[in-house]
Amino acid sequence: MHIYRNTVDGTLTEPANHYEIFNPANMQSLGFAPESDEQEVDRAVQSAVDAQKSWAKRSDQERRDIVQKVAHILEENSEYLAELITREQGKPLSGLGSRFEMQACVGWTQVPASLELNPEVVYEDDERKDTLHRVPLGVVAAIAPWNWPLMIAIWQIIPAIRMGNTVVLKPSEYTPIATLEMIRLINQVLPAGVLNTVTGDGNIGSKLTHHPDISKIMFTGSEATGRRIIEASARNLSPITLELGGNDAAIVMPGTNIKAIAMDLFWGAFLNAGQTCACIKRLYVHDTDYEEVMSELSSIAGQMKIGDGMDESVLIGPLQNSMQFEKVKELISDAQKNGCDVREFGNVPDKGYFLPLTLVGDIKDGQRLVDEEQFGPVLPIIQYSELSDAIASANGLEAGLGASLWAHNTADANELAPRLEAGTVWINQHGAIHPMVPFGGNKASGYGVEFGIEGLKAVTQGRTISIKK
Ligand code: NDP
Repeated sequence: MHIYRNTVDGTLTEPANHYEIFNPANMQSLGFAPESDEQEVDRAVQSAVDAQKSWAKRSDQERRDIVQKVAHILEENSEYLAELITREQGKPLSGLGSRFEMQACVGWTQVPASLELNPEVVYEDDERKDTLHRVPLGVVAAIAPWNWPLMIAIWQIIPAIRMGNTVVLKPSEYTPIATLEMIRLINQVLPAGVLNTVTGDGNIGSKLTHHPDISKIMFTGSEATGRRIIEASARNLSPITLELGGNDAAIVMPGTNIKAIAMDLFWGAFLNAGQTCACIKRLYVHDTDYEEVMSELSSIAGQMKIGDGMDESVLIGPLQNSMQFEKVKELISDAQKNGCDVREFGNVPDKGYFLPLTLVGDIKDGQRLVDEEQFGPVLPIIQYSELSDAIASANGLEAGLGASLWAHNTADANELAPRLEAGTVWINQHGAIHPMVPFGGNKASGYGVEFGIEGLKAVTQGRTISIKK
């Protein structure tokens, strides 16, 4: 059985320990992931420190060219990596699954390589000229989750190295192997030490984020771990980009053509079996539209094939791990106990962490399935009578990652949009992220943004050069 390896200083390392990884669709073994010890974290950070100065000295154009080569490697190995993602994470190869994740990896590599971030003259008069330069921070610790393991790692890694930082990445202990393979491949075109990995549980993540040589932390994951990352950052006063969970509300405004939006609502909620930070997790519909929304979404859910994502006809895979599987089941059972209208769709295989697509009506704010982030294939549909009440409900939780308004007239929605307390408010779409458009949370969904020019700035520090004329 294959043992996957970390990359440190451009070399595959010999693991001190390893543990077995299982396919969440059929529980078959996929091989062994390495388990780093504390010494390996030290070696990985030291290698990143050693490589950083010379990497930062290269010209911007040289780094951009190398990042384009990374995009090429990702493109060439897309099918290999997509199959590994499907086997390890569970999302299907087809549809909005692992091939889609690999396309995103390529796009989110090409775009930062194509952007210009030039020094900016911020002030000039007869006596002085002040220019703001953007310089690298140093070594970035990247902590990635298990839901979009490669794509989110790319979001963290690529802007950082493009701007002259070096990186130590820790993938989630649930999904390390596809990521380790991607990093091994990317290292073919990067100088040794620019991009390193360590693996293991939260203790290894904690050792990495507390390391005295870390200058920036990029984190995507839960709010609870996010708070620990903030504490860790105090050690070095490291800036952080925190992308935490969401509990995104979608509000369908009265007068909207339900049939026309139903498919987009469905995928807005059930992308990656709901295991996406910016999925629709609460759907608010007007009393008069409730039956039609239920019926349209039921009809779509009934057509979806659930199963092992290596089958090209499957569009919905399993939950990734038993922790998440149990958590989602518990939220559904709580709704059942409270007398909600729980409707299940799809034939679910016996083995694996599969759940049916589940729509839950007759449910209100204050119930667990509405108030807690489900991160799974279940959607509560909540009725409202007054739009202002729906807006108040959407804003009523601490989470503030995304929100959406669905309307016949986009001007009406555009007028309401600034009232929604979220990092992004989408109109007639949900979760429609783009590599040029800054993305990040409000309130308890984190701080700092990724993507676009703002995302590049976030992995640099400002250095103002002020000249007396
Ligand atoms: P975590 O926040 O625990 O995991 C995210 C990453 O943080 C993993 O790589 C994890 O490592 C690492 N980590 C854990 N503890 C520490 C620490 N003290 N210091 C540094 N790194 C650490 O999320 P879970 O996997 O436990 O999922 C819990 C919930 O979080 C889910 O049910 C879901 O609601 C939400 N979530 C949100 C995501 C998003 O995209 N915003 C992604 C994933 C989960 P390891 O896995 O090895 O423990």
